[in-house]
Amino acid sequence: MTKFVQRVFSGVQPTGNLHLGNYLGAIKKFVELQTTHECLYCVVDLHAITVPQKPDELKTNIREVTAAFIAAGIDPTKHIVFNQSQVAEHAELAWVFNCVARVGWLNRMTQFKEKAGKDRENASIGLYAYPTLMAADILVYRATHVPVGEDQKQHLELARDIAQKFNQDFVESIATHQHGEAYFPLPEPLIQGPATRVMSLRDGTKKMSKSDPSDNSRLNLTDDADTIAQKVRKAKTDPDALPSEIEGLANRPEADNLVGIYAALNGETKPQVLRTFGGGNFSTFKSALVDLAVAKLGPIGAEMKKLAADESAIDSILRDGAARAKVLASETMGEVKDILGFVR
Ligand code: ATP
Ligand code: MG
Repeated sequence: MTKFVQRVFSGVQPTGNLHLGNYLGAIKKFVELQTTHECLYCVVDLHAITVPQKPDELKTNIREVTAAFIAAGIDPTKHIVFNQSQVAEHAELAWVFNCVARVGWLNRMTQFKEKAGKDRENASIGLYAYPTLMAADILVYRATHVPVGEDQKQHLELARDIAQKFNQDFVESIATHQHGEAYFPLPEPLIQGPATRVMSLRDGTKKMSKSDPSDNSRLNLTDDADTIAQKVRKAKTDPDALPSEIEGLANRPEADNLVGIYAALNGETKPQVLRTFGGGNFSTFKSALVDLAVAKLGPIGAEMKKLAADESAIDSILRDGAARAKVLASETMGEVKDILGFVR
């Protein structure tokens, strides 16, 4: 078996307001992994343009995601923080993977179906090919572990399939070039955030998303206390009281979601939350949830705003991170070219 360096890679798109789902599903775990792994955290701006972006807003969003990483506790000096478009090897390896992945594999991707909606003919080719770029993001660093929310599980499985097919298709060339039996590791998803699938506050069957047109559907990391209070009070619920047992949350997606958010923010389990609030009405529970969310998100949001205000400091973090990422990525890309038989 080929031995791979244990390396973590993950990305967040600069597509709009970072929200509680990004924090609980992904970023909180990013922070934890810094103590055990070598980590690369990427602002995936090439993914962002798979849907329309206004250039000025894109710039602001790239800086905001970077600020969020740092405000949440990621250390860009010990690990690598950068934006994807500064390391051209992501796009270069993605092309190779477009030639490895099969159309049938991509046709099964549910994120494309959801994001393209009814007007599929009019979706960008980039939106369709998104998962091969995501596989390249991970594998250009030969990363072994990828912390993500539950919605990215299918894309991670595709990344593993691509790695495996590349290893099989070029098995002889990989051996000839002294890489042993496999060139790429099969990256493992780490779906282990305190809440792996936070749902919209307006619809408990839909994931909380940056790209949801309704701002009331999510709690943004930069929302102030009044906005958080308003959004939580308006959050959809049902007429029943909160149950005392976890079974009572079945078929009540909105109640289940709010209890899950409370539990994740407070480092508790859902049964523990229900022991405190079960039998009570939603308005008491919602008031407690507002206080908790303000206490947990407030400091991160404030720090984010402070950091994002210093554009040149953020840009220099990204430049420095990109230079370090490029060293790793260009080594992989050179080896991939040799394996494929390109002349260089
Ligand atoms: P977009 O709507 O533009 O796709 P997004 O909110 O889905 O934005 P991404 O940048 O696509 O955010 O995802 C960043 C990380 O956050 C990924 O690891 C993803 O799995 C995770 N994530 C996104 N939404 C949620 C959610 N509602 N609950 C838990 N994790 C989430
Ligand atoms: Mg997403």
